[in-house]
Amino acid sequence: MCGAALTGLVATSLPDTTPTATGAAASARQDGDEPCPPGLEARLSDPGLPGLVPEGGELTPVQAAEYEKKLREALEPLRAQDIAPPREVPVVVHVIHGEDGEGRVSGERVREQIETLNSAYGGRFSTGPQSTDTGFRFTLSDITRTADDVWFSRFNDHRRTIRSQLHQGGPETLNIYTADLGPGLLGFSSFPQDYADDPEQDGVVVAHDTLPGGDRARFDLGHTATHEVGHWLGLFHTFQNGCDTPGDYVSDTPYEREPATGCPEGRDTCRIRRGLDPVDNFMNYSDDACMTTFTSGQAERMAQHWAAFRDGGPRALTRTGAAAE
Ligand SMILES: [Zn+2]
Repeated sequence: MCGAALTGLVATSLPDTTPTATGAAASARQDGDEPCPPGLEARLSDPGLPGLVPEGGELTPVQAAEYEKKLREALEPLRAQDIAPPREVPVVVHVIHGEDGEGRVSGERVREQIETLNSAYGGRFSTGPQSTDTGFRFTLSDITRTADDVWFSRFNDHRRTIRSQLHQGGPETLNIYTADLGPGLLGFSSFPQDYADDPEQDGVVVAHDTLPGGDRARFDLGHTATHEVGHWLGLFHTFQNGCDTPGDYVSDTPYEREPATGCPEGRDTCRIRRGLDPVDNFMNYSDDACMTTFTSGQAERMAQHWAAFRDGGPRALTRTGAAAE
């Protein structure tokens, strides 16, 4: 079944993903094209450990292709001028914390997280030639706080209930949930293509200690949220599909066989492909300190997803933002 194929792909994460990916695609076809459940893309601190990814797993090549197809269909009726920055994104942060106060992220740290998002999406972490202002900006509209030991420590088991009770706004509103996700799992996100069918489950979940000022070693600068919001805006990992076409469906991110860990220099896992691995890209698994860049191709792809699935919500924010600029 589709879900089993997803889990298998996640649990391996081996250097050569090609046979696994091909196998997953084949098994999905053999199962009579059983529709895949809504996808989740996570960020892991240690991708070598199995069993860390929530049910739904990372995307198989088949599932990524399904998302791409939905994007193309949704873009069909749109004109070029419908896909243009700037885009103001209202953000609601839901802090789930322990009854003793553990994980009770302060308002100051939440605001620092929003600032980090604005710097990252504004291209201010990178000064290199690939530094890209994506045009997206984020405005904090609300913080909710819930003291609940079970929700805090077992978010995944209760994620449907938690999100249906707390979710705010329409497709244009970014809901960020913070909780204790356990060891290894930094965060996960829904995709814009799934909003229409499951609006209350839309949003991003991050471990509370990954916000700026947290104590998550190597991952405490707030780029777990940067990464997950990339998924929320439609991006795949830079290592999606490994060295195989079409990779991550973005033309200016070099192919990459597997996630990067740490901050490796000069890594090149797809030697038959042009370019070194995009270790500094926000959609990799590198340490926060190494992540500096969205490419212009990724910015364009996020703009396409916004226009296709998130624009025109109840508050029509694109047009409001454009007028205010
Ligand atoms: Zn991810």
